[in-house]
Amino acid sequence: MLTQHLSGQMLRDPVNPGSAEIREIRNLPNPPLVDLKADDIHVRRCRLASDAVDSRFGRFRTKDMPRVLELLRGAPVLIGHDKRTLGVARFFGGTVENRDGVSWVVPSFYWPREHSGAEDLRVMIDSGVYSEASIAFTYRTPTCSVCGNDIRGCAHWPGRTYDNQLCFFYYDGIERVTEGSLVYRGAAYGTGFELPAGSNESENATPDIATETSPLDSAAINLAPAPDPDEAGPTLTLKHHGRRYLAILRPLKEE
Ligand SMILES: [Zn+2]
Repeated sequence: MLTQHLSGQMLRDPVNPGSAEIREIRNLPNPPLVDLKADDIHVRRCRLASDAVDSRFGRFRTKDMPRVLELLRGAPVLIGHDKRTLGVARFFGGTVENRDGVSWVVPSFYWPREHSGAEDLRVMIDSGVYSEASIAFTYRTPTCSVCGNDIRGCAHWPGRTYDNQLCFFYYDGIERVTEGSLVYRGAAYGTGFELPAGSNESENATPDIATETSPLDSAAINLAPAPDPDEAGPTLTLKHHGRRYLAILRPLKEE
C-alpha cells in the first residue's frame, strides 16, 4: 500500500444547499443522526483531483475518477491533515467534470452552522485563506507509462522522456481515500515543491513516501516507524538500484 497526497483548489461559486444536497447527505454511510435541513449547513465544493500528470509525475486513470469520487463519500475534511483532531466537515456527493480536456473529481463538503467554529471556517474558506484542499489516498501499484510494469522495478524514471514520451506512473489499485484537508495556499505537501525535478536522483525518483523515509547511506536497511501507525505495519526502508523504497510489512496474501 502506498500513500499519496495531492492538492486541489477551492471553487469560488457559492453553493446554496437544497433538497438534492440534503438527500445525498442523508444517504451517506453513517448519516447524520438529526434531520438536517438546508438551512442547517454550509456547503462548498473543490476541484480535488484530476487525470492530468501531477507534479510528482503520478496520474489517475480517467476511468478511475468516478471511483475516487465514490471513495470520497463520507470521508472527513480535516484542517492541514491534522489527524489528532476531529474533522471539521464531511465530503458528500459531487461530480466528475471535464474541463478543457481534463477530468476532475469535484466533491462537495458540508459542515453544520450550529458548530461554534462554523462561521470562522466559512470566513477562512470564503476569504481564500484556506484556498486549497488536499486529498490523501492509498493505492497498490505505481504503473509505468512506458512499459506497463511496476515503476519501482523497471528501468524507467518518472519525469524523464523516452522516445519523446514523458515517463509517468498511474495510481493503480486505488484502495481508499483516508481524508481530505483544507490547507493554506502553498502549505500542502505533494504539490511538487518538495521533490524538485533534476535534484538528487535518488530523492527525485521515489514515487511514493519519499519525505517520510529516513536519510540513508548506501548500506541499505533501516527499520523505521510507519508513516501512519493506524494504517500500516512496521516499515522497512531499503535501497535498490539506486532508488529508495519504503516497504510496509504485511503478511503475504494470495491475490
Ligand atoms: Zn517502465
